[in-house]
Amino acid sequence: MSDDTVIYEKLPAAAPASVPASKGGLDPDVMYADLEKKIEAGGVKMDMNRIRAAYEMAKAAHEGQFRKEGSPYVTHCVAAAEIAVDMGLDEDSIVATLLHDIIEDTDLGYEDIQKQFGPSVADLVEGVTKLTRVQYTNMEDLQMENMRKMLLAMSKDIRVILIKIADRTHNMRTMEYQTEEKQRSKSLETMEVYAPIAHRLGLQRAKWELEDLSLKYLDPTGYKEITDVLDARMPTLQKFMDKIQGEIEARLAEVNVHCSVFCRIKHIYSIYRKMYSQNLPINGIFDLCAFRVIVDTIPDCYNVLGIIHDMYKPVPGRFKDYISTPKPNMYQSVHTTVIGSEGIPFEVQIRTWDMHRTAEYGVAAHWKYKMGDVSVKTGDEESYAWIRRLLESQQDSEASDFFHNLKIDMFSDEVFVFSPKGDAINLPAGATPIDFAYSIHSGVGNSMVGATVNGRIVTFDHVLQNGDVVEIRTSKNSPGPSRDWLHMAKSGSARAKIKQWFKKERREENVATGKDMFEREIRSRGLHVEDFTNESVLPALLKKISYSNIDDMYAAIGYGGMTATRAVNRMYDELVRIQKTSDRKTALDKVNEAAERRVQQSQKATGKPVHGVLVAGLDNVLIKFSRCCTPIPGDDIIGYITHGQGVSIHRKDCPNYLRRSKAPEDAGRWIPVSWAEEISDTYTTTLLVTFSSQAGTLMEIATALNAINAKVHALHAQDTSDGKSLCSITLEVKDLEELQKIEKKLSGIHGVSSVERRTK
Ligand code: MN
Repeated sequence: MSDDTVIYEKLPAAAPASVPASKGGLDPDVMYADLEKKIEAGGVKMDMNRIRAAYEMAKAAHEGQFRKEGSPYVTHCVAAAEIAVDMGLDEDSIVATLLHDIIEDTDLGYEDIQKQFGPSVADLVEGVTKLTRVQYTNMEDLQMENMRKMLLAMSKDIRVILIKIADRTHNMRTMEYQTEEKQRSKSLETMEVYAPIAHRLGLQRAKWELEDLSLKYLDPTGYKEITDVLDARMPTLQKFMDKIQGEIEARLAEVNVHCSVFCRIKHIYSIYRKMYSQNLPINGIFDLCAFRVIVDTIPDCYNVLGIIHDMYKPVPGRFKDYISTPKPNMYQSVHTTVIGSEGIPFEVQIRTWDMHRTAEYGVAAHWKYKMGDVSVKTGDEESYAWIRRLLESQQDSEASDFFHNLKIDMFSDEVFVFSPKGDAINLPAGATPIDFAYSIHSGVGNSMVGATVNGRIVTFDHVLQNGDVVEIRTSKNSPGPSRDWLHMAKSGSARAKIKQWFKKERREENVATGKDMFEREIRSRGLHVEDFTNESVLPALLKKISYSNIDDMYAAIGYGGMTATRAVNRMYDELVRIQKTSDRKTALDKVNEAAERRVQQSQKATGKPVHGVLVAGLDNVLIKFSRCCTPIPGDDIIGYITHGQGVSIHRKDCPNYLRRSKAPEDAGRWIPVSWAEEISDTYTTTLLVTFSSQAGTLMEIATALNAINAKVHALHAQDTSDGKSLCSITLEVKDLEELQKIEKKLSGIHGVSSVERRTK
């Protein structure tokens, strides 16, 4: 179905042009030839042999099967593929759309597809098949939302849901041939499940069409009432639209704004909703048409807005700026409603071409954009813009919900389960009933005595699957969590809550357990406990791991806040350093160490940490973190007394420090500083990630960051000359431990070759 038959531009909804041409139904070969033409016209380079092979396979496999209206079944596959092309999907998706019903409806299976088209296409088809098998029944609102989430969760690759939407769109277009019962149930499902998903993914065009087609079967009378009125008013409306369009075009041409102006009748379901929500008869709804002005730049958008407001009277309260505040689904435009000389209100939407693509194709604009225009270099800032927008959109809650949903369908590192009441709860993959209990409330976790999954009693280490219904049994007499739970819990938040319990409830026991673990760890390395705990070194060693007394450290090890291995590692490094340096100290070092000791003492008395940093012998000093190496707690740090701007904090491995530490003009300016014991601030630092420029790696990085809840301030990527890309990520962390976790996660991504701290 080409753009001219899409029902929103200029014309009100017309019946879909899917009526068979002749008695034998539609000719698939003719349709396929049109599909090839459409792909070529789209300008995106695709392997046409591969696409043809998919068509041949589908045609042979569906041989002898027919659509309700009499056409060979494969016409549906081709029509769905055409819609997928319109949506801007990539080659694998088009191939998979042609094959999408093969596993479900023919003798061929996953392996057959994989053999000829590779695992990526086979995975897509299998994903669509799984969605097709989900039984939809009419349910309550809450269940409905779960259903949407479940479908998203099941489509591990976002393209699966896009293919499913293409499939559904074609089925809705040809729904007139189905029984009344099927029309209703499919329309309801489309309205409740697929249209909202299309909306969430920013597929405006698909959403409108799905809504209008569903409405047609869900409320035929209401639908007809609107289309009848639109048809009757069409001549007047058309005249009105032509006039306004002409006025706007002429005026913008006068002031030399390069633009395209479009107009359309609003889609039927939006008029329908307005009638019912405001209890208006259709004749009471005036703003039936909307104009769209598409320009080249953002300043032009605001420029045009001013001109429109000058030409027509704006309706107060109707101006919305989605450019400065994009909608959660990435939609950007400015909207205003104005009244022309006829007294008829109409809406004007102003946006750039870039925003237009995103508005029409949503997430799919990514592929279309990236592959469609070879002149857009992949290193270009713009081609990463949508990922940045996604990351930025995490800031508000509605958006993070959106991003969350987007994330789960691309990544399988989460699992969706249900409470007995039907609340969907998302947990990391591999989560157990312990994670589930703590995700409800720490009180539930701490008093948990048993769990059932789908009605059957399970052990606490039982791994939950998508769709499980989980019930937790609690008891007031519960002894509380056991230490094993720390290993069984998959989510950081559950572990944190368990640790919290141990920390609070079991201080003495923790100290004893921790001491035991600590000493065993030392002995297991053939070292002597006494070497670590003697008075001459212990304070320095404890300071190294930010504890003020050894019982606190034991307690932390005991409740799991720190591992014995880590404590011993870091203390041992410090021990070695002390022994080495005690032999050959420069005079300066000695002075520094004395100062450091002084600092420790003076802090006890009067010193107050500033931003978590203690400066030798100085109170309330102005602190700033150097931008070259962005230190965070856990880094070895040094301070530099600047000229009148306080003390600037560097990492000891910062090239600037290494270069200038011995410089005569800086003599005396480098002073010892240390991190405070308790740090409540967060710190900003920058990571540099090098990865192969192949598609998808950057998205994986972005998604991984979101999956671990990294607080990203900025993400910039660019190509380097050697076929690699370099991405700089500025983010906020609590300390080195958190940063190392993030580094580890990023290093694990396929295609990432290095993750480093930025130092210049
Ligand atoms: Mn299908």
